[in-house]
Amino acid sequence: RTVYVNGDFLPEEDAKISIFDRGFVFADGVYEVSSVLEGKLVDNTAHLLRLERSLNELKMEAPASGAEITAIMQKLIALNGLQEGLVYLQVTRGAADRDFGFPKDVNPSLVMFTQAKSLLNSPAAEKGIKVIFVDDIRWGRRDIKTIQLLAPVLAKQAASEAEKDDAWLVMDGLVTEGSSNNAYIVKDDQIITRKLSNDILHGITRKAVLSLAEEVGLKVIERSFTPQEAQEADEAFITSASTFVFPVVEIEHTSIGKGSPGPISKRLREIYIKQALETLE
Ligand code: PMP
Repeated sequence: RTVYVNGDFLPEEDAKISIFDRGFVFADGVYEVSSVLEGKLVDNTAHLLRLERSLNELKMEAPASGAEITAIMQKLIALNGLQEGLVYLQVTRGAADRDFGFPKDVNPSLVMFTQAKSLLNSPAAEKGIKVIFVDDIRWGRRDIKTIQLLAPVLAKQAASEAEKDDAWLVMDGLVTEGSSNNAYIVKDDQIITRKLSNDILHGITRKAVLSLAEEVGLKVIERSFTPQEAQEADEAFITSASTFVFPVVEIEHTSIGKGSPGPISKRLREIYIKQALETLE
C-alpha cells in the first residue's frame, strides 16, 4: 500500500514519523475518515470543513488548504487503485521536545492512508448489529474529532468480549452516541437522535441522513433518549462514514422491533447510498 506522509507518497514500510510527534506523545491531533465509492470520495467537502473546525478548536495550524488536501486524497486513492473503502487522514501539532504547552515554530504533520472495505454490500447492513451499553467516560469535547480514542477502544473491546458488534455510550442516564457512530431510535415513525452539542461528534453522515429523512417526509426529533426508551423502540440504527446506515436489532440483550432491520432504517440506508453515489467528489 502507498501512504502519504508530510508531502511524500511512499510504500507503507518506508513511512516514518518522529517518536516526538505530539500525536504519539499527547494524542495532540485530529483526524477524519471519508468513504470512497467507485474510486471517488463521499461528502468529502463536509469532512474537510469539520477538519478545519477541529483544527481551529485546538488552535492547530492547517497543514494545507482544503483543495490541496482533497488533491492528495484523490491521488492516494488513484495510486492504490481503491474502488471502495476509506481514506484516513490525521493532522497532529507536529514533533517537538516533550512539553505540554504548544511548541513554537513547529510544522503540523499530515498523514493519510487508504483501507479497502466493502461498504455497499455488508452483512451488518443486511442482518443488523447488536449493541451493549457502556458508560460514556470520554472528555467534555467530543465535538472535536481528536485521535484520543481510548474510551471507544475500551467500549468496542467490551462489546467484542460480550460477543456483540458495538457499544452505545451512556452519560447521566441518557445515550450520547455509539462508540464510533451516531445513535438513533425510531418510535411511532419518528426518528429520535440526540441534538448537537459538545457531548457528541457532529457526524457528517448524521447531517446528510437527517436532511434526507426530512426530504422524504419523515419526522425527526433531536432530543436525548434513555437506554430503556432505546430498548422499547420500534427500530434503532447508527450512522457513520464507514457504515453509512446500519440497523440495530438488539440492544443490551433486548430485541428491537421484530429483531430484524426495520423499514425506516432500511429506507434511510437506501436513500443515503443513492445520494452518495449521485454526489461523489
Ligand atoms: N460519533 C463518533 C464518536 C464517531 O467516532 C463517528 C465516526 N468518526 C461518528 C459519530 C460518525 O461521524 P461521521 O458520520 O462523520 O463518520
